[in-house]
Amino acid sequence: MFHIIPENDPKQALRIRRFFIASGSYLMWVCLVANCYFQGFFRLTLPQTLSCFIIVLLMNMGIYTIFRSGFNKRFSDQSLTMPQMLLANLWVMFVAYYTDEARGVMLMLYMVVFVFGMFRLKLRQFILLAAIAIMSYVIVISILFRFNPDKINLNVEIMNLVVLAAVLPWFSILGSHINGLRQKLVKAKKRIEELAIYDELTQIYNRHQMYRILEREISLAQRGYPSFSICIFDLDHFKRVNDTFGHIAGDTVLKTLIAEIQKNLRDVDYIARFGGEEFVLILSYPDKDQSIICAERIKKIAGNVKYPGFPDDFGITVSIGVTHYQPDESVEATILRADTALYRAKAKGRNRVEYETTSKAKVPVHP
Ligand code: GH3
Ligand code: MG
Ligand code: MG
Repeated sequence: MFHIIPENDPKQALRIRRFFIASGSYLMWVCLVANCYFQGFFRLTLPQTLSCFIIVLLMNMGIYTIFRSGFNKRFSDQSLTMPQMLLANLWVMFVAYYTDEARGVMLMLYMVVFVFGMFRLKLRQFILLAAIAIMSYVIVISILFRFNPDKINLNVEIMNLVVLAAVLPWFSILGSHINGLRQKLVKAKKRIEELAIYDELTQIYNRHQMYRILEREISLAQRGYPSFSICIFDLDHFKRVNDTFGHIAGDTVLKTLIAEIQKNLRDVDYIARFGGEEFVLILSYPDKDQSIICAERIKKIAGNVKYPGFPDDFGITVSIGVTHYQPDESVEATILRADTALYRAKAKGRNRVEYETTSKAKVPVHP
């Protein structure tokens, strides 16, 4: 089904939404021109004025088609801000040329055009546009002076020009400043979204996101999709690493180890930081056997990781508790079982994988 604003491409949807706001200002432009016409300030005849409106309508339809067909994506400025603003400049000048006594007031339309630049333009582009606008106005009054000298009062036009030359550069500076703030906001929003999902040190999902993934996996499993296993793994004697090499070196170990494990997971599996030096793997396997094989493989890989800046014989092992999701149980119940298995792996001497089938109500404490 055709949507006026595409639903599957948020960036393109935003561009089209902005285009519609710009089209709305053309509607205002049409009303102002019509008003000029009826007040007797406009030098064109009614058919000529109506033709202009039709051209403006066709132009807007053309721009919409460019956006809707995706043709705009071929350009570096995909929002087509500069071309749209240049076209708007042309129409402001057109009105200025054919409006007599009300010419100065019509230049206020520039303010609307420049506000649109705040969505995208940098200072350099704003200044360029201001220069183009001022030059265009000089051209308009030069042509008028040459061909319709009785239609202009040169002193008033020079005054208009001075005001335009004073106001537009300031508008450019303010506009680019506001655009800068807007971009900082966009970056900050992206950062906040990342922080809400990812763990800053290891760049894998955080605990909050892990729960969201688990909820999704559970609803999938309840609808008959393949079930999943949870492995909680914990670094063995990691405190000693911090005590011997320092906390920063400890961070390097965590980052290096997790990056290596992540490389060895399939696209359908997830890894998340549960907290401290404990991590969770969500493995999409229909039964426990493959999950145990996978956990054994991860344990082996972890034991062989080499760490930059550490002695050659330095290594870290992990203990892993594995369990499989049982139909209709809660997330907490599955995690508790995996933790029980981890507790047993630690108790049995570490660097090993343990599997837990039955639920234990008590919350385990590591030895
Ligand atoms: P076990 O084999 O029983 O797990 O022993 P352990 O020393 O690994 O366990 P313990 O719970 O005594 O110590 C965990 C250590 O992990 C203590 C804590 O400072 C360290 N740790 C947790 N998060 C981080 C981190 O982000 N960076 C660093 N460098 N250390 C961390
Ligand atoms: Mg530990
Ligand atoms: Mg721990």
